[in-house]
Amino acid sequence: MASSKAPPVVAVIGAGFSGVMTALHLLRQGRPIKVVLIERRSPIGLGAAYATDDPAHRLNVRAGNMSAWPDRPDDFVAWLKDRGLDIGPGGFATRGDYGRYLQGMLSGLAESPEAAGRLVIIPDEITAIAPTEGGWALTCGMGRAIGADAVVLALGNPPPRAPETVTPELEASGAYVADPWRWSLETAPDGEGPILLLGSGLTMVDAALSLDRLAPGRPLIALSRRGLIPREHQGAPPSPPPAPPPAPLPPLAVLAWLREAADRHGWRTAIDAVRPATQDLWRGWSLKQRAAFLRHARAFWDVHRHRLSPEVAERLARMQADGRLRVLAGKLDRTDRLEDGRVGVAWRPRGGTRTRRLEVDLVVNCTGPSSDVERSTDPLVAALAGRGLVRADPLRLGLDIDADHHVRDARGRIQPTLFAVGPITRGALWEINAVPDIRVQAARVAATVFETLSEF
Ligand SMILES: Cc1cc2nc3c(=O)[nH]c(=O)nc-3n(C[C@H](O)[C@H](O)[C@H](O)COP(=O)(O)OP(=O)(O)OC[C@H]3O[C@@H](n4cnc5c(N)ncnc54)[C@H](O)[C@@H]3O)c2cc1C
Repeated sequence: MASSKAPPVVAVIGAGFSGVMTALHLLRQGRPIKVVLIERRSPIGLGAAYATDDPAHRLNVRAGNMSAWPDRPDDFVAWLKDRGLDIGPGGFATRGDYGRYLQGMLSGLAESPEAAGRLVIIPDEITAIAPTEGGWALTCGMGRAIGADAVVLALGNPPPRAPETVTPELEASGAYVADPWRWSLETAPDGEGPILLLGSGLTMVDAALSLDRLAPGRPLIALSRRGLIPREHQGAPPSPPPAPPPAPLPPLAVLAWLREAADRHGWRTAIDAVRPATQDLWRGWSLKQRAAFLRHARAFWDVHRHRLSPEVAERLARMQADGRLRVLAGKLDRTDRLEDGRVGVAWRPRGGTRTRRLEVDLVVNCTGPSSDVERSTDPLVAALAGRGLVRADPLRLGLDIDADHHVRDARGRIQPTLFAVGPITRGALWEINAVPDIRVQAARVAATVFETLSEF
């Protein structure tokens, strides 16, 4: 622990939405506490989702649901209005604007008298964490050491993992993009050949829209097992929305509830109505039930639940109609680097036995985050798992945590001053990927950190 007179230090690792909001909640209370917020990306305060200025990159949640504060639901809409942006609560702002909103809050607080001397922002990467007597020692990429009484892991989604059919040779070549969130699309290789996007979810949509703008006319092919792409938002949601299903309810009963609600209100309203209950439903399911949901329903849930703004859906539909984007359902069998530097791809259509072939200039891994923290390629997560300070939750969706967001170590023991927030806690909550859920969680984590520190 720091000296009894000095205010306790809380290190928050990661300054995307989860980390920024946890830090703001910690500082907002005016209690004696020092927050050290560490971020490896520049500029700070955007995270992976909002570090884009591509106007085609829209939020996939209506502005009216994107306030950063659970107790001030109109905050983001008011922010847009103050800047003369004509987007009401039912509209979809750009993700770049959302990033500016988030950064504005962070810099507003950083410059305010109430945060003077209490908020330290460090632009660096944390590569290791070790327990010390009563606290934690954090190691930065540049070698600097930081001491903290409590640590909050706000690391965001882990990077994607290469499919097994991607050979090490291809992986090491310039014809493969391992992580589209850490790749500049401007560096797409010259030429006119097709580009293969592995996956057909939201990451694929983002990559396709950017490539269409930066490399116009280039054929894009998306390949995923089911070839499902996210559906679109439509019309205004009903107000008030129908009541959510009562929890606890087993998965099959939820499915029946959804079918009935969809008949009455339409599938979009039915899916949205489940949202306030999703975390409670998930918590009420046994491991076996959760695993069955993931196996049988996850792909369908994802495309109906995480929808595209109408603007994005329309662009995507146009790209498909013009043949600029083809979406294939099938399995990637093999990839081979060809002599001319291109990539030979063997794939099998879903339900088929005959192998088809493609030749592409570039393969972009859009399969989304690899959730197994024990096989993570992220340096810090790998180091934490290696030291036994974290372990995967039983379904390998993220970190194993308890109901109060304490991280469990490799032996399942709760670590009272190590916390996690954001999508990496999916194993415990399932629905914890978007702002409406994380904003509530960030406030709770901050409250638990206070509670814990006051006990020492
Ligand atoms: C493309 C995309 C679009 C999205 N659109 C929406 C949307 O419209 N609406 C919505 O509600 N949600 C959306 N989401 C969901 C999004 O995940 C959440 O809204 C939220 O941004 C998650 O924030 P985060 O801070 O948990 O993660 P991130 O934004 O990933 O931030 C984590 C940060 O931690 C940093 N970090 C990680 N490890 C270290 C380390 N060792 N040292 C230092 N820094 C580290 C990373 O650099 C990163 O900046 C979208 C997500 C993506 C990927």
